[in-house]
Amino acid sequence: MSTQKEQNWQSALQNTVTSLEELCAIIPAARAQASEWAKDSFALKVGRRYLAKIDPNDPNDPLLLQILPQKTEEKTVAGFVADPLNEHQYNPLPGLIHKYRTRVLITLTGTCAIHCRYCFRRHFAYDENRPGTPGLERIYDYLRQHPEINEVILSGGDPLLVSDALLQKVTRELALIPNIQRLRIHTRLLSTLPERITPELIQALCQTRLKIILVSHCNHPRELDDTVAKHCRKLIENGVTLLNQSVFLAGVNDDAQILVALSEALFQCQILPYYLHSLDPVAGSAHFALSFSRQKEIYAAMQKQLPGFLLPRWVKEVPGAEHKMIVGCEGG
Ligand code: SF4
Repeated sequence: MSTQKEQNWQSALQNTVTSLEELCAIIPAARAQASEWAKDSFALKVGRRYLAKIDPNDPNDPLLLQILPQKTEEKTVAGFVADPLNEHQYNPLPGLIHKYRTRVLITLTGTCAIHCRYCFRRHFAYDENRPGTPGLERIYDYLRQHPEINEVILSGGDPLLVSDALLQKVTRELALIPNIQRLRIHTRLLSTLPERITPELIQALCQTRLKIILVSHCNHPRELDDTVAKHCRKLIENGVTLLNQSVFLAGVNDDAQILVALSEALFQCQILPYYLHSLDPVAGSAHFALSFSRQKEIYAAMQKQLPGFLLPRWVKEVPGAEHKMIVGCEGG
């Protein structure tokens, strides 16, 4: 039987907006750029909590731009492709991506609570990558056969959308594999659906010998608030390490002051800024791209204003590389 808290986040999830008509009724400023074609290419999905933070009269609201299927996505742009990181080449088993030597990524689910227009997995073959119970058993065997792997990342989709029971089972099974030391969870729910951080979830994840790291994903300081901070405190009290990753996005955070404010807001929530990614060139996201020189200028200005522990590492993924490339700036 589900608890009241589970029902709260599950009903919030069921109540997400998926039609452009409804989005434009709530945010009239979305209408001018809204595109059914783009929505059919990658579905619209956004929760009421996130929507409530958008200025209904501002067509350039940075939170709106992250979720609005726009006419500009209809253009084909050279270099922007379906699988910009060639992930299909590192997919030894359904649901498993093994790109870097010591860590693997499991796509527990293809479902998210919000659809981010710049997502590099927006065209990912999730249907072929839902491991299910037999698939997970094969993944555990793979991990036992690769003692060099010491960290598992649950990603997606959003791994916190699966049941507490499944998360607990996966955590228990991974803890039985001696070489696995860390379990990292990549989620956008900490800021978009913080009610998901229930006592039951914390119990499911934290009663383990594994070190648990939760990596949130926020791109703009307005995504954070007191409710997020309250749920972060509960995670911290239970020994979870909190980090954040962001993406450089034109129109959203292409300004050093916004990114400095993001780092400060994250720290108020006890989250450390981890990565600031250059955009992966996925088809449909070209309007978010920033020139290298502009990214460099912004990052240099951030360096001047932030202590080292609040400066995210600026990174770029290069398909086929053995690790992410740290870009940084000269003199930094
Ligand atoms: S996987 Fe993450 S970035 Fe991609 S759509 Fe889902 S929540 Fe957004």
